[in-house]
This record gives sequence, structure tokens and C-alpha cells, in this order.
Amino acid sequence: MKTTKITSKIAPPSASAAPSVTPAPHSPAPEANELLNDSAERLCAACGMCCNGVLFHGMAVQPEDQLRALLAKGIKTRRRDGELQFLQPCPAHVGNCCRIYKDRPQRCRAFDCRQLLAVSAGEITEAQAMIKIDEARKRSDRVRDLLALLGDERAHRPLATRCARVFTPPLDPSPQAETLREELQEAMRALQEMLAKDFRPSN
Ligand code: SF4
Ligand code: SF4
Repeated sequence: MKTTKITSKIAPPSASAAPSVTPAPHSPAPEANELLNDSAERLCAACGMCCNGVLFHGMAVQPEDQLRALLAKGIKTRRRDGELQFLQPCPAHVGNCCRIYKDRPQRCRAFDCRQLLAVSAGEITEAQAMIKIDEARKRSDRVRDLLALLGDERAHRPLATRCARVFTPPLDPSPQAETLREELQEAMRALQEMLAKDFRPSN
């Protein structure tokens, strides 16, 4: 359970002072919040996985979202399973920064991954969270490398979608492709296991 909301998601350098924090009833002193926000900023700048299609393939549009304005800024939507969603990888995620930080969708404002929540709650240090992020990034890079070796270069699609496509028949029957698919399956399993345990919220 969070003790304070930490503002995250990679504001571009020019907007780094913009995030505001609404202290929760039992939140730490303002200077503690500032330190947490600094931590979140560094962690998110090193990560980006909730924006780049690694953690999510989309996020639900909320009634508070200024949809027309967001579409005008290049954000894309799609209806999936009866729900209108912002697509990921997010077009606003550029150079590991959110280029529409002040106007980002509601879900982006509300989301903190497990690493941010744990830092916020004082359960782990920023350095420990950074180690997890580093490992998760290595695992997602490994998946991308294998996808590229299997001929999939669709960087604009969510990672899980790309993997599913590689396993959709007709499959390349060569022994080399078969070996690569086995390695990809294992790499994706290792990545998803870590995302579920260390990044996705429990509910
Ligand atoms: S997954 Fe967590 S650390 Fe990574 S960018 Fe998203 S909120 Fe930040
Ligand atoms: S708008 Fe895009 S880049 Fe910005 S926080 Fe949301 S998902 Fe990330």
C-alpha cells in the first residue's frame, strides 16, 4: 500500500520541476516527497517499460482524458475488447521522456509500478529498484534481439504482440529458426515472470 504518491513517468528535462504532489493524509514531509520524486524521475528515466510496450499493450482511456487534445499531440487509440485504449508503445515516449508530460492521460498519472511503490513505502532503496530495472531491461533487450534474428523488426508494436506473431503459422521450419524460437520462448517467459513479480501492480 502506498504511503505517498510519487510523481513519475519521465518528464522531459525542461519540465522536471513541473510535477506536483498532493500529500496523502500520512505522507512524509514535503522535502521527503521531493526526494521520492527525484528517485522516481531517475528510475523512470532509466526504465520506460510502462510506456514502451514492454509492460502493456494499451491503457484504457478515462472520462477525464482530453481525448481530442491528446490525439492532436500524436497519441493513438484503438478499441480492444470493447474498451477504447491508448496504444503502446506510446508515441509520446521519446528518448525515455514523456513529451506530453503535463497533459499525459489519467492512467499515466495514476500508475506506479511495484518498484516505485516499494521505494515510496521505504521498503527498498532507489539503488535496489535500479538493479531490478536494469535486469528487466536486459531481459527485454534479449527478447528484442531474438525477435530481430527471427526477422521481426516491428519496434512500434508491443513486445508480447510481436512474440505472438513470431509463433503464428506458417513457421520457418529451419533448425536455426526453431532454435531461435525456443530461445525466444524462454527469454519471454523470464521477462514476463519478472514483470509480474516486480513491476505489475497486484490488482
Ligand atoms: S515501470 Fe515503473 S520505473 Fe519503469 S517507467 Fe514505469 S513507473 Fe517508472
Ligand atoms: S503519455 Fe505516453 S510517454 Fe507519457 S507517461 Fe503516458 S504512456 Fe508514458
